[in-house]
Amino acid sequence: MNGSRASQGATIRFDRVTFAYTPGGRPAVSDLSLEIRPGESVVIVGPSGSGKSTVLKLLDALVLPQEGHVLVDGIDTRDQERLWDIRRRVGLIFQNPDNQLVSTTVEREIAFGMENLGLQRSEIARRIEEVTERLGLGKLLSRPPHKLSGGEKQRVAVAAVLAMRPACLALDEPTSLLDWQGRREIWSILRAVGDEPSRTVLHVTQFPDEVALGSRALVIAGGELVFDGTPTELFAGAGRAARWGLRSPATMTVAESLRGAGYSVPEGIPSLEDLVDAVARGAEGRAT
Ligand code: ADP
Repeated sequence: MNGSRASQGATIRFDRVTFAYTPGGRPAVSDLSLEIRPGESVVIVGPSGSGKSTVLKLLDALVLPQEGHVLVDGIDTRDQERLWDIRRRVGLIFQNPDNQLVSTTVEREIAFGMENLGLQRSEIARRIEEVTERLGLGKLLSRPPHKLSGGEKQRVAVAAVLAMRPACLALDEPTSLLDWQGRREIWSILRAVGDEPSRTVLHVTQFPDEVALGSRALVIAGGELVFDGTPTELFAGAGRAARWGLRSPATMTVAESLRGAGYSVPEGIPSLEDLVDAVARGAEGRAT
């Protein structure tokens, strides 16, 4: 298991970053400053078209700021000679797994990125074994990726990236094309990866329910950072999150109803598991 872990998380800094797709046009990201420390698990949420994906593109040097600087472990994304160092540190997962699966079998797919890193065969085999066990891909190794379900494909895409041990895992709406089962599969992986102190996670999502997967929430609206705090703070009180079109996570709404009915549910944004626990414990209490 340890083998799929990064040796240390990345430090990410956006320093007054402005970027417009058309020079002189309306900025997709405007005067954005933030610092993300190694090991933090950050969820970026906000209305569609607000600039969230652009933040990830800036992070991986797919686009470069017209003003300000993006620094990954102190390396400026504008430093073309260090592009490889940045891409090695940041592993990107996109919305559509079909766009990143290129090999004939799952095993080959996981090996592909590591081969590009120039790792030795024995090391590649060791890491394949580790991520396979960790992400429960054992039965899929010899299958062609294009024949898998959406959730399985996305798990393979995540496995292939984790096997390269990026210090930062950056995910752009990784569950938005998945069914409920697929989303839950990716959530459990994100929870586990987010808990690793040695990896920085940046997860862009359009789903408020996914905000609680991280320990820090950023809201981007109109290309600007408008909120930086914990997921619980974001949804505390009426109105704040709604101002940016974010409805409360469903688990929070259900938790409120359960509390109203006398169940004991943890404060904050509970997980589905917490809710099931609360109901089960309540039922036990009634039976005894
Ligand atoms: P989000 O991820 O929050 O939905 P994006 O970062 O994709 O938002 O987009 C921010 C803004 O930049 C939007 O107005 C969008 O239309 C524009 N945009 C995104 N990608 C491109 C592109 N390749 N060319 C031109 N404009 C783009």
